[in-house]
Amino acid sequence: MSMFCYQCQEASKNIGCSIKGVCGKSPEVANLQDLLLYVTKGVAWWSHQADVQNIEHKAAEKYIIDSMFITITNANFDANKISEQIEKGLSHSARR
Ligand code: SF4
Repeated sequence: MSMFCYQCQEASKNIGCSIKGVCGKSPEVANLQDLLLYVTKGVAWWSHQADVQNIEHKAAEKYIIDSMFITITNANFDANKISEQIEKGLSHSARR
């Protein structure tokens, strides 16, 4: 299995796409989207910690929203753009 995506109602066999997306999503993009969500969860954790301590974190909030939009079904299949967003997220985490 080179990918696993069960993001939408078009999932293969109504279970999940595991070779290539029915929608055309490549395994590379599916795996990058998974990594982006993982990194975004980390940024969200730090964002929440900043919120608790009344520390300004609008850039992190914008990052989270942008990442969510990128991973919406069929909104962005550009592996380079997704990779750039992952790098941005890692730099947010490093700034804490
Ligand atoms: S978004 Fe694409 S790859 Fe994911 S389940 Fe739907 S059709 Fe399959």
